[in-house]
Amino acid sequence: MAKYIGPKCRQCRREGDKLFLKGDKCFSSKCAMENRPFPPGQHGQKRTRLSDYAGQLREKQKLRRVYGILEKQFRGYYKEADRIKGSTGENLLQLLESRLDNVVFRMGFGASRSEARQLVRHNAITVNGKKLNIPSAQIAAGDVIAIAEKSKAQLRIKGAMDASQSRGVVDWVDVDTTKLQGTYKNVPERSDLPSDIKENLVVELYSK
Ligand code: SF4
Repeated sequence: MAKYIGPKCRQCRREGDKLFLKGDKCFSSKCAMENRPFPPGQHGQKRTRLSDYAGQLREKQKLRRVYGILEKQFRGYYKEADRIKGSTGENLLQLLESRLDNVVFRMGFGASRSEARQLVRHNAITVNGKKLNIPSAQIAAGDVIAIAEKSKAQLRIKGAMDASQSRGVVDWVDVDTTKLQGTYKNVPERSDLPSDIKENLVVELYSK
């Protein structure tokens, strides 16, 4: 599966927002957005006004980068979101939130979505008692996600869980830190997700 392997902090600077791609570093003073909060490159500090199209494009790129998804797959999510009944933008966010790697991250088993994805790829995760190593697998409400027996001793999982517990986990997952497992209680509603995501711009972009 293809993935972006360039510098992650550069993506935040490009989008002008903290995308939380690097785990603990994102919450520290080493975060590049704290020190260089302007786009990368020679002309990064120039002020420019975005056209409507550029605004839509940037919002799409931002969302894609937050969830670590390449263009082709992201467009596939849009098509699916458009096919399902209801608001396309909300459907899109719900499909992204229900990815296995994202749920593993939301439960705090990985410090970032990319670390969570690695756990999935390396067979460290079970869903309803069965190993599942497909990061894009869709998780349904009520599914139980757990750390596989052979991976329970991994220190990085313990470190990630301690950090996420101290920051607080989202309301739509329930995590048992002793058993190293969690339940995806429900698919989040739009109101549960950050209000600064402008999914309507992504819909406008793709529906042209
Ligand atoms: Fe983004 Fe995290 Fe890097 Fe800060 S530390 S710029 S939030 S990836």
